[in-house]
Order: sequence, then structure tokens, then C-alpha cells
Amino acid sequence: MSTVILVTGGAGLVGKAIEYVIENEPAGSRFGKRPNEKWIFASSSEADLRDPAQTRKLYEKYQPTHVIHLAALVGGLFKNMKYKLTFLRENILINDNVLHASYEHKTQKLISCLSTCVFPDKVEYPLTELNIHNGPPHESNFGYAHAKRMVDVQNHAYKEEFGCNFSSAIPTNVFGPHDNYDLEDSHVIPGLIHKCYLAKKNNTPFVVSGTGKPLRQFIYSRDLAKLFIWQLREYDDVEPVILSVGEDEEVSIKEVADAIVKAVGFQGSYTFDTTRADGQYRKPASNKKLLSLIGDFKFTPFEEALNESVKWFLENYDNARI
Ligand code: NDP
Repeated sequence: MSTVILVTGGAGLVGKAIEYVIENEPAGSRFGKRPNEKWIFASSSEADLRDPAQTRKLYEKYQPTHVIHLAALVGGLFKNMKYKLTFLRENILINDNVLHASYEHKTQKLISCLSTCVFPDKVEYPLTELNIHNGPPHESNFGYAHAKRMVDVQNHAYKEEFGCNFSSAIPTNVFGPHDNYDLEDSHVIPGLIHKCYLAKKNNTPFVVSGTGKPLRQFIYSRDLAKLFIWQLREYDDVEPVILSVGEDEEVSIKEVADAIVKAVGFQGSYTFDTTRADGQYRKPASNKKLLSLIGDFKFTPFEEALNESVKWFLENYDNARI
């Protein structure tokens, strides 16, 4: 029987990485394409998933047996703070439409994408899959966080009432080719890559906001893609799985900026603007559950992944999201 896998948000950072892995890993291997599989990478131009009718039509067209649900209104801190209701409503609508269409079309398996932003603000570290709902999320992004948390609630309800095989993944900070490089509204790595590129081009200083001291876990989009493929094929439980590098692989913002300076080949003045806020010092997430289930998995070393991302940005500047 053929398997049709629909990836929503298929033209975004993570969607493009899944497409890359499926096309480039050896066919039939753990992460490569299987002979009976058809992969569909849907973008918003094909269906606006805020709209139930368009969502239903997409499902009628492809009849997916499996779904990786990535589509979301995504944004950096500033956008999240400014548009809390928009983040809440749009993501609730998108998720509700996708989950319900998956139920109506008897989709055999659905993996939806959450984020470590869903975790409570005041929580014990490291973050684990068990403490998603144990307190309110950080005030700055409560709209996005609550909409994403609801997916876990819905997954349980669909399972209990209808026996659906729905689950979710919780990635930490993602970076890689096809990222959003907008200077105002991007995540830290693509934002700094773009800034450093402009500093080199215009012969101006490269200024990094904050002290450079905070620590973060970053996952390369192509590693994350493999983990999504694993979860879709090999994980059958409603409870979410944190998809992340280990707690011992935290990287400081200074280390990120150093690696970017090296990869871009920037030789000008490079400083930290310590008047700008740092955000939380660290918020480590545990990948123990993932490692106990997946067995052997090798994450790409940070510098190697960063070099590949910078190379992609430099080669695709004219078509990148900037
Ligand atoms: P991108 O912004 O690159 O991709 C999101 C995709 O969602 C876009 O391709 C967009 O489609 C699609 N989308 C947005 N609104 C709609 C809509 N109304 N209808 C249909 N499609 C829509 O983000 P990422 O790839 O980074 O994010 C993928 C998932 O990973 C998201 O669920 C996000 O919350 C999650 N995540 C991301 C992290 C990160 O660091 N980037 C960290 C943790 C979780 P189009 O471009 O065609 O408009």
C-alpha cells in the first residue's frame, strides 16, 4: 500500500530540510525515501490553513496517510510581543483545521511541531516532556505558546475520543538553509549571519546585541529533519518528544558570533552592545527521551552546520527571505 506524506509548511526552514534529507539520504535507508512513499511539501500558496475549506481541499487532493504539520505563524521576540492575539488565533486556527482534517481523512499518523517556547516561564531545568503544562509560559510570547500547547491537549483528546495516532515534536532553536534572514524579525543565527554579511559588504562594524554570554541549544535543520522522519516512522505515542542536541552542547551567543565571523570571512570591527537585553541566561532542554528511543544518532557538529548555513546564505542571497 502506498504512503502519502503531507508536510504542511513544506516551503519553510524545517520543511525544506525534510525535503533535502528525503532526496539526499540513500533510498530505503532509515531517513531516505522508501519505495512506496510519496512526499508532498505544501506551501501557503497551495492552501491557507487558517481556512477550514482550503485545508479540507488540500486533504481531498492528496489523501495523505501521514502528516508532518509544521505550518505556523512563526516570528522573533519583537513580533511575538507585538501581535499576541494574531499569534494565538492564527496558530489555533491552523492547528485545529489540520488536526480535524487529519481525523476526518483517517490519517494514520500525524506529528505536529511545538517549540520549547511552550514551556512554563518558571520551571525546573532541564526542560522535559513532563512539564509543558506546569505553569504559564513567558509573558513575551504567551499567544504563540498557548496555541502550541493546545496541540498537545488536542492530541490527547483525539486519541481518547477517536483513537487517533496524533503526536508532537518539541524542537529547540533551529537553523539552516532556507531560514528567515529578516534583520528585524529573525531568530538569532540567521539575523547575525545577515548582519555580519552586511558589515563585511559595507565595511561597517559587526555589532552583536547583548553580552554574548547567554547559552542556547541549536539544532541543525537537516538533523531535525531526520528526527522528524524517525518520529513519523518509528514513534507511536501521543506524548511529545523533545528534539534537541544534549544539554552538554549548549553554545554561547559569543561562540555563535565567532563562528559566523569566521564563516563569513569578516575582518572588521566586532563588538557587543551590552546595553541591549540578553534574555534568559540559559534554558536547557533534555534530549534523554529522544536518545533512549532512537538509539544511535549523530548530530552534525555546530561549526560544520553553521558553515553550511552561511554558505547557503551567501549563494542564495538574492532569493533568500531577507
Ligand atoms: P518557517 O517560517 O520557515 O516556516 C513556516 C511555514 O508555515 C512557512 O513555510 C509558511 O508557508 C507556513 N505557513 C504559515 N502560515 C500558514 C498558513 N496560514 N497556511 C499555510 N501555511 C502557512 O518556520 P520554521 O520552518 O522555522 O518552522 C516550522 C515549525 O517549527 C513551526 O511550527 C515552528 O513553530 C516550529 N519551530 C521553529 C523553531 C525555529 O527556531 N525556527 C524552533 C521551534 C519550533 P509559506 O512560506 O508558504 O507562506
